[in-house]
Amino acid sequence: QAKALGRGRYEVFSPDMRSQAVALIRLESDLRTALERNEFKIFYQPIVALKDSSIVGMEALMRWQHPHQGLVAPSDFIPLAEETGLIVPLGEWLLRTACRQLKTWFDGGVPPLRLAVNISPVQLRDPGFPDMVINVIRESGVNPENLELEITETILMEQSSSIVNVLLKLKALGIHISLDDFGTGYSSLSYLQNLPIDTLKIDRSFINKLAFNGEQTNIIETILMLGSNLGMDVVAEGIETVEQREKLQKMKCSRGQGFLFSRPLEESAITSLLLSLPGKTETVAPGGAS
Ligand code: C2E
Ligand code: MG
Ligand code: MG
Ligand code: MG
Repeated sequence: QAKALGRGRYEVFSPDMRSQAVALIRLESDLRTALERNEFKIFYQPIVALKDSSIVGMEALMRWQHPHQGLVAPSDFIPLAEETGLIVPLGEWLLRTACRQLKTWFDGGVPPLRLAVNISPVQLRDPGFPDMVINVIRESGVNPENLELEITETILMEQSSSIVNVLLKLKALGIHISLDDFGTGYSSLSYLQNLPIDTLKIDRSFINKLAFNGEQTNIIETILMLGSNLGMDVVAEGIETVEQREKLQKMKCSRGQGFLFSRPLEESAITSLLLSLPGKTETVAPGGAS
């Protein structure tokens, strides 16, 4: 039997896969030191009100500025960070840094907006998670009402009472909870009723074909109706064209996000954008009203 196993391994583990495995091990050790070396960055993408394209929120999206490989996308390192458990300290770093940034924006007079942060299922299962969030809120001085945590459907499918308790605890603080990539998971909709979800984010794949596909319209309208019946707000992800925006607007979708409005940008670019907005609260000089 050992022989069969050995032979099987030999056949499966080709030289090509060996080099892939080596690359993966290297990436993993790079990932471990990246946090200490301050190689992670946060990009921010505006979330807008579709009626007037005004910015109502900002989603924090993680990037890894790798010393040799350039800017690495989250899909290329988040799964590994989850597997290794490194997502726990990494997610804490992101939440703390983004909350401080939000405070800095508010102190600088930008219009009110809500910060959305993606939370991995691995973080939600970590028993220290709620206290970590509470600490970060206290330290950064942001209002919990201005914080939105984005979770995915898969975590809810676990039907774990401890996860539900965590969500209820965060909700009680005033934090908003949204369901990311909605419509792509296993749709057992009963869980939606029992959970403190404020917002459904319609997955980009449904918005993608919106301009020329009637069926996509039906699905989006169904999600909008579901949200309305359950008292949840709906955000459309991945809006790239004016036509998509107009169709969503006609369907009474309230908020959207996508390259049409802005790509995810570095902090400095987003800060300039926010400070140039008309709604910015100016300090009015005495007698300077006009
Ligand atoms: P997501 O949370 O659904 O984020 C939206 C993704 O769609 C982002 O990709 C964004 O750049 C992209 N996007 C936004 N508008 C458009 C558009 O109009 N067209 C197209 N084609 N794409 C658009 P990104 O930044 O690569 O992030 C991918 C995923 O990685 C995120 O999906 C999220 O699930 C995960 N992620 C990102 N940052 C974090 C993080 O800090 N923690 C965790 N746990 N996951 C993260
Ligand atoms: Mg998200
Ligand atoms: Mg999404
Ligand atoms: Mg996504």
